[in-house]
Amino acid sequence: MDKTNKIKAGALLVSIVLAAAGGAEFYAMRGYKEAMVLGPSVVEVRKLSQYEPSLAGTANDANIYILDSSVPGGTVMILGGTHPEEPVGPIAAHILVENARLEAGRLVVVSRANRSGSLYSRNGEAYPNYFHVETEWGEKKWRLGDRAASPLDSWPDPEVYVHYPSRQMLAYMDIRNLNRAWPGRPQGLLVERTTHGLMEFIRREKVDMLIDLHEAELEYPVENTIVAHENGQEIAAMASMMLTAQEFPVPIGVEFSPKALHGLTHREVGDHSDARSLLFEVAEPMLDRIRGVTDERLLMEGKDEFVMEAGKHKLLYAPMDENGWPIEVRVGRHLSTILQCIDVFNMMIPDRPVTVAGIPRYAEVVEKKLGYLFRDPSKAPADKVAYD
Ligand SMILES: [Zn+2]
Repeated sequence: MDKTNKIKAGALLVSIVLAAAGGAEFYAMRGYKEAMVLGPSVVEVRKLSQYEPSLAGTANDANIYILDSSVPGGTVMILGGTHPEEPVGPIAAHILVENARLEAGRLVVVSRANRSGSLYSRNGEAYPNYFHVETEWGEKKWRLGDRAASPLDSWPDPEVYVHYPSRQMLAYMDIRNLNRAWPGRPQGLLVERTTHGLMEFIRREKVDMLIDLHEAELEYPVENTIVAHENGQEIAAMASMMLTAQEFPVPIGVEFSPKALHGLTHREVGDHSDARSLLFEVAEPMLDRIRGVTDERLLMEGKDEFVMEAGKHKLLYAPMDENGWPIEVRVGRHLSTILQCIDVFNMMIPDRPVTVAGIPRYAEVVEKKLGYLFRDPSKAPADKVAYD
């Protein structure tokens, strides 16, 4: 072997070793299961494939947690994990399922609405594979994931994504983005079939109000707000007034869902079912393009000097100081906003009550942090633990 060939062979060997080491990490992440301890009001865990059979055996056959009071009332549905790189959704979903006590009506929770997106990572951006919350019994751990479904599960992407049924043309990769694929269709690609299954659930189970949990970069104008379909505007407006006046140091606004922008929950769920459709946003500095080191600390503590500097130049749509946007603040805001919207819903539609106890509000979450809200799956009976 001459010298050049030796260098080439050496380079090939090094690449194989690096790819194997990296590949092993990604393979482990794809197989990691998130344990959910079924709380006092969970009566059933259904699968999304009961509503769209083609999802059986796919990455997106999500668990649907049904919390029932056995007192007649309405049904509120919460979606976490629409965009997996926004961790507040799955965290809030676990808090609700493990702790909520229903006193009237039903609460339905999905932790991993686009599960496939949580099974891989964003190419080239060095995202952490997992995030953790410390508890008294050890670490509670979730996969982080990317914004859209994995190309391993949904491939190939079209040249142009033609949204069904509006025929609006969207960016090709948005066919894997759950929040561009509503209301979906049974013969579509994976994420269109996922939203179709969720729509079928919403229609058949007569969901009264759907809440989709998100986070957004501070550079993005739709921030710290409730985006509402026409059918949910009164609830959103009243809730935002009360939360801003009584609870949140940083106000929460209301945005009206644009009628001509298709594929989003707050538009299509309201247009294609009787459910009032709301989407919540809260600030997550790790999503900002101008961020510094992209690690779990930034994800969970929400502190970043580069994003803070952008704030000094008035480039952001949310305040940013050295306190940042820690995970407790973000989770606390979403929990309070859920509870407030349910309260307003109960005032406006008193014959379909949904009463949820056992869920802390903003101030309590900020003070006590998150650890106390999770149960130890190793101490729970096997039939009381589900995996996402
Ligand atoms: Zn989002």
